[in-house]
Amino acid sequence: MDKLESVEEGLKVKREVLEVSSDLISSMGQFLRKRGFIEILPVVISPITDPLNHSVFDAGIEYYNGKYSLTKSMIFHKQLAMRIHPKIFSFSPNIRLETKDKRDSGRHLIEFTQLDLEMRDATRDDVMSLVEEMLTDAFEKLEEKFGKFLREMNPHFSIPKIPFERVKYLEALQKYGSNFESVLSENATQPFWLIDIHIDDREFYDKLDDNGKTLRDMDLIYPYGFQEASSGGEREYEYEKILRRMEYKGNDLESMKWYLEEVKKGIPPSAGCGIGIERLTRFVCNLDDIKSARLFAKKPGELAI
Ligand code: AMP
Ligand code: MG
Repeated sequence: MDKLESVEEGLKVKREVLEVSSDLISSMGQFLRKRGFIEILPVVISPITDPLNHSVFDAGIEYYNGKYSLTKSMIFHKQLAMRIHPKIFSFSPNIRLETKDKRDSGRHLIEFTQLDLEMRDATRDDVMSLVEEMLTDAFEKLEEKFGKFLREMNPHFSIPKIPFERVKYLEALQKYGSNFESVLSENATQPFWLIDIHIDDREFYDKLDDNGKTLRDMDLIYPYGFQEASSGGEREYEYEKILRRMEYKGNDLESMKWYLEEVKKGIPPSAGCGIGIERLTRFVCNLDDIKSARLFAKKPGELAI
C-alpha cells in the first residue's frame, strides 16, 4: 500500500464539476419520482452482498458471532424491496476493494455511488427506455444551466439521441475480439447498449435467455472511449433456476443461505440497473480520470482521506 494521499489531492475537484454532479443526481431523482419510483435509503452493511463476477479484496466486519459485508451492490435488497413497492431507486454507496492493476484505468474507484433502480414485472426494454429518457432529460437540464462550462470542458457534449443503438455481445466479440468493448466505445459518438451478455461474463442473478447461453441483460456503454456506464437486466426470481445458476458460477451457497430462503418464499420478477454516478460525471465533463469526478476519491491500491 502506498503512502496516504494528501488531503489536497482529495479536494482537487472543480467546483463546477461538483455542481454538475449534484444536478445530475437531483434531475435523475426527480425524473424517477415523476415516473412513480420511490427512493429507498441505501444499505451499507449486510450479511449478503453482490458476489460480483470479478475478485476484489474482502471488505467484511466481524460482529459478535456473525459477519457483515460492506455493500458491493444492492441487487438482493432491491429484489426483496420489490415485495413492498413496484418501483424503487437508491443512491447506493458501494465498496469494492479492487486490485491495484485497476488504478490507472481512469474508471475505477474503491468507493463509488450507483443510482440503483429496480422495477417489478418489467422487461429489459422497459429499463432501457427509462434510462434513455432519464439521461436525455438530465442532459437537457445540464445544457440549460451549465452549457458554457460543459462546452469548454467537453467538445463532444451533446444530448444523446434516442433510442440508443443495441449491439449484441456475441456478434461484437466475433467481430472485434475480446477487447470489443473498448474498441466499440473508442469509435462511438453516441452511448449504446451492449445486450445479450454471455452467461460466463455475469453474476448468477441476471436472467438466462431460452438459448441457455446469453442473458436477458445489458450494459450501457459511453462513447469516446469512456466505456461502461451501467449494467442491468431482467432478474432470475425462481428458486430452482437461481440454485442452478449459483452452482454453475460456483457461488458459496452457505454464505447466500439467507437470500435463498427468501427466494424460496417468493420474490417478484423484476428488471433494473445501476448507473455509476462518478463515471457519469466523468463522461459529461470529459475528465481524464474518475478521481476528478468526486470529492475524496479513493483509487485502487491507495489510501486516501
Ligand atoms: P456493476 O454491477 O459492476 O456492473 O456496476 C454497476 C455500475 O457501477 C457500473 O456500470 C459502473 O458505472 C459503476 N462501477 C462499477 N465498479 C466501479 C468502480 N470500481 N468504480 C467506479 N464505478 C464503478
Ligand atoms: Mg457492469
